[in-house]
Amino acid sequence: MSLDAVLAEIRACRACAGELAHAPRPVVFVRPQTRILICGQAPGRRVHESGLPFDDPSGERLRDWLGVDRETFYGHPAIGVAAMAFCFPGTNPAGGDYPPPARCAQLWRPRLLDALPNVELTLLVGGYAQAWALKGAAKANMTQTVRAWRDYLPALMPTPHPSWRNTAWLRRNPWFEDEAAPYLRQRVREILTA
Ligand code: SF4
Repeated sequence: MSLDAVLAEIRACRACAGELAHAPRPVVFVRPQTRILICGQAPGRRVHESGLPFDDPSGERLRDWLGVDRETFYGHPAIGVAAMAFCFPGTNPAGGDYPPPARCAQLWRPRLLDALPNVELTLLVGGYAQAWALKGAAKANMTQTVRAWRDYLPALMPTPHPSWRNTAWLRRNPWFEDEAAPYLRQRVREILTA
């Protein structure tokens, strides 16, 4: 199936309509030239409203890790974003977002990835993307998996989610911004300038 055909089906998907408190609005941002694929959790409320992935403070931190500005992030055809679920799952009573519905990856992920043959680096942003992509190769928890980031190169790189909720995690784990993020910036630079 062509990428255009998969994207058209995803954008028309309403499979979770009966379970969400709002109308599904699939957000997926890839092109045939995608070489760096960013796989996060699911759109938050702000992205649900704008339709643009990582159009929020998490995106600002992610772009810092990647070493790219907003214009490059959205404009360079080598950068793509496909979260584990494409629709905002809603806000739980504690104020966080509900987990991404597993149905989304089951329905769409294999077909979408098959239609993206040029991806050479996949960022596994957070525990959901890591569990799905790494399966038995994931460590006991997200911190251990990200700490072992070198083990998954060159095709995969696990990172924490860039959410403000992980600011304390980043303070407790300074090796991520001291060692992993500089590698990531260098790798992204190489891919974007190749
Ligand atoms: S989250 Fe995924 S499966 Fe559910 S409605 Fe959106 S695109 Fe469809």
